[in-house]
Amino acid sequence: MNSFERGLTLKHRLCFYLGGILFATVSYILGLWFYALECAKWGDAETYRKIVDSLTGGFRSHQLTFFAWEIFCVAVAFLLGSLFQREVINRRRAEEQANVDGLTGVYNHRFLQERLAAEIERANRFRRVLSIIMLDIDDFKRYNDTWGHQAGDKLLVLFAALCGQCIRSIDFLARYGGEEFMIILPETTETEAYNVAERIRQTTERETVAAFGPEKGATVSAGIACYPKHGFTRHALILSADAALYSAKRSGKNRTHIYERNQHLPYRAASGHIHTIANDTDLEAIETLSAAVDGQSSCYAGHSSAVSNNAVMLGKKLGLSSGELGSLRVAAMLHDIGTLGTPREVLDKCSPLLQEERILIENHPGLGARILARLQQMTDIGPGVMHHHERYDGKGYPNGLAGKQIPLFARIIAIADAYDAMTHPRPYRKTLSREEAIEELRRCAGTQFDPDLVEEFIAALQQSDAATGQAA
Ligand code: GH3
Ligand code: MG
Ligand code: MG
Repeated sequence: MNSFERGLTLKHRLCFYLGGILFATVSYILGLWFYALECAKWGDAETYRKIVDSLTGGFRSHQLTFFAWEIFCVAVAFLLGSLFQREVINRRRAEEQANVDGLTGVYNHRFLQERLAAEIERANRFRRVLSIIMLDIDDFKRYNDTWGHQAGDKLLVLFAALCGQCIRSIDFLARYGGEEFMIILPETTETEAYNVAERIRQTTERETVAAFGPEKGATVSAGIACYPKHGFTRHALILSADAALYSAKRSGKNRTHIYERNQHLPYRAASGHIHTIANDTDLEAIETLSAAVDGQSSCYAGHSSAVSNNAVMLGKKLGLSSGELGSLRVAAMLHDIGTLGTPREVLDKCSPLLQEERILIENHPGLGARILARLQQMTDIGPGVMHHHERYDGKGYPNGLAGKQIPLFARIIAIADAYDAMTHPRPYRKTLSREEAIEELRRCAGTQFDPDLVEEFIAALQQSDAATGQAA
């Protein structure tokens, strides 16, 4: 019987029984006392004297009824206790079952996410490390196809049990989904986690053969990520472990890889994970961050989203893939994030900038890229942010890159950024109409902007105008 099935603790049970005895004694004495008072009131002095004698003289004449009453009350207390206990057990069982995977009996995805968030919070508070292992059974689809789904289910059950045998009681094992499992290892470095993953991998290889026969053996690949080294948030940590797992699969399966920075590029290229980042709750965080950037000055309200929309419009015209468009959207949204480190007086200044003020302004792309470099899922966004103030003629900042040396995202953002600034009020210049802005972009094509991209941008603008006109 496990802890939740025990229901009430010994302390609670004793409380029920003692409560029954106490209730029986007090109710018996009070009952007699009231009865005695009633007899006295009716003038039955003999009965009154007998009762008072029995109360003060050790229940001489009432022992039997007293003990019968005690037993009755304790029995009622026992009955109530049992009903209460059953209710507690049922509730705990329901709670526990909501957190458990029906097939393997290990915790489920939902509970895993809750637990990982709590463990990261704890590790952060106490300045500790923690590791996660993401495990994926190799070629499980083929296993199902060859041996049938029931055999596949048996393998999942055995694998979960083997994982359970290889970890400590403080570790947390859950089914992430399908044939993927995750283990949270509090207070564990990536090297220690590697040893655990290898133990699981070797045990799986050996024990599946022992249980099902040589031809039905299975292997598993594992990816490891460590907090805070490989990710500060739950989402980042899972992505890192998944990237490491993907790297293990690509290197031939049946192996364990610890996360390394360079694993992200092939991982994203294969699965469009940046798209996931740009589509889920992180996008809300990114929008909030960009709103904070724009909120530094009243005339920048909505600037980051507008630049992002312009950039994506141009990206679509250029035929970028959906994954690339996701990255471009985020890069454009966060292109000015480095201005969070620029003093407000300098950002708001309308008169010409002093030398040191210009240096502060020119630092913002580099600072933005450094901020984003801390988020490993955003490594391909950094160059777009870093170089969005480079000029096509090489006279821009921070690195004076020229022509096609400037990363594509940065060349796109430069045009999207300038167009939005031209067509919205700025303290240092008059607002241009759409036609005037197009003319200005053309005038600066080849010096400030990539001339090919300028023409594509103008064509995209006109297409979007035509589409809006048609819709209207
Ligand atoms: P890889 O080595 O790259 O991981 O390939 P794989 O075949 O293991 O991975 P893939 O994601 O292609 O296939 C996973 C399969 O797992 C497909 C799905 O039918 C099967 N699966 C998922 N959940 C269950 C389950 O509960 N029981 C069974 N029997 N099969 C399942
Ligand atoms: Mg899989
Ligand atoms: Mg698999």
